[in-house]
Amino acid sequence: MFKQDLLDFSFGELQNFCKNNKLPIFRASQLWRWIYCFGLKSFEEMNNISKPSREFLNNISLISRPEITETQISIDGTIKWLIKLKDKSEVETVFIPQNDRGTVCLSSQVGCTLNCTFCHTGTQSIVRNLTSSEIIGQLMVVMDHLGDWPSGKINRKSTNIVMMGMGEPLLNYDEVSKAIKIMMSEDGIAISRRKITLSTSGIIPYIEKTGIELGVNLAISLHAVNNELRNKLVPINKKYNLENLINSCRNYPKLSNSRRITWEYVMLKDVNDSSEDALNLIKLIKGIPSKINLIPFNSWPGSLFETSTQKKIDKFAQILMDAGFASPIRMPRGQDIYAACGQLKSNSKKLRKSQTNNFVPIHNP
Ligand code: SAH
Ligand code: SF4
Repeated sequence: MFKQDLLDFSFGELQNFCKNNKLPIFRASQLWRWIYCFGLKSFEEMNNISKPSREFLNNISLISRPEITETQISIDGTIKWLIKLKDKSEVETVFIPQNDRGTVCLSSQVGCTLNCTFCHTGTQSIVRNLTSSEIIGQLMVVMDHLGDWPSGKINRKSTNIVMMGMGEPLLNYDEVSKAIKIMMSEDGIAISRRKITLSTSGIIPYIEKTGIELGVNLAISLHAVNNELRNKLVPINKKYNLENLINSCRNYPKLSNSRRITWEYVMLKDVNDSSEDALNLIKLIKGIPSKINLIPFNSWPGSLFETSTQKKIDKFAQILMDAGFASPIRMPRGQDIYAACGQLKSNSKKLRKSQTNNFVPIHNP
């Protein structure tokens, strides 16, 4: 018999589910707390719900977890999980421990349609949107692994979320926003919007909506300071060009010194790493409360680029620091297990492009 996965529900949907199944409405709050504060995967331990009700719930519903098929641990403590979804496609999820925090990097799609030329994910031929339960399921499986339940415990390990795994989150806005709202729910996982960062290659129609509806930190994958080069590196720039992108960032709701745009800039040798590029970057984002993240290019087997020399990266960083931007070089993490930015790609399916042309359509704004 079909069992409803409760992770598919927003809180309102869980209330409707209770109503439709003639359960009292307060059951929704109880379930929500058990699932998202205590991380329960079955109804048995829900001791404020009567036994007959628990049995009834167990007959009609379940609380899923995605299946972990591989776990890799880096020498720097970074952990990468390969996660198999119900249709057998796979995504990767990463945990990065730092001194004062632990960041979970979540995927929003299987693969990515945008084919940025330096990104491994973009070369994966199979692409589909993840559902909200597949996105929240990644976080829950990480919290299981880290012993992070109940969510309110002191010394919790997963404190920050970045939507920087596989996929373009703003091409899957509905499911991503539903999952983020669940993560933020104070009666549940309770991660504040200040600790959540969504990274986009610049899908302009959804930028303002992200700011208004979710209020999370925004990171923009900039990587080039003129349209000619950005068209090549981040091809979606042909549709949403730099001028329009910068304008929509300038108007990102509630920007201030404590809520700044993060500009991600991958350092590609002799491509975008000159002093002139650094100066043009400063000009481009002038007046916008900003942080800059210089990411040394993480190479992957078969990639066309090389990372800039340390000397070039330091010079680029110095120009930015002279203009008032603080320590902008991002330490690569988990490189030995291919868990660093832009290296995520599951190798499980290798179909030819021609075989996948009609695969699940991607929502296009
Ligand atoms: N699709 C979204 C989020 C996922 S990519 C986006 O593009 O923003 C997360 C970050 O890694 C982006 O800034 C992306 O441009 C960067 N990235 C991709 N490939 C990389 C690589 N090989 N080395 C370093 N950074 C890379
Ligand atoms: Fe997609 Fe982001 Fe990779 Fe570009 S950098 S191909 S948008 S995942």
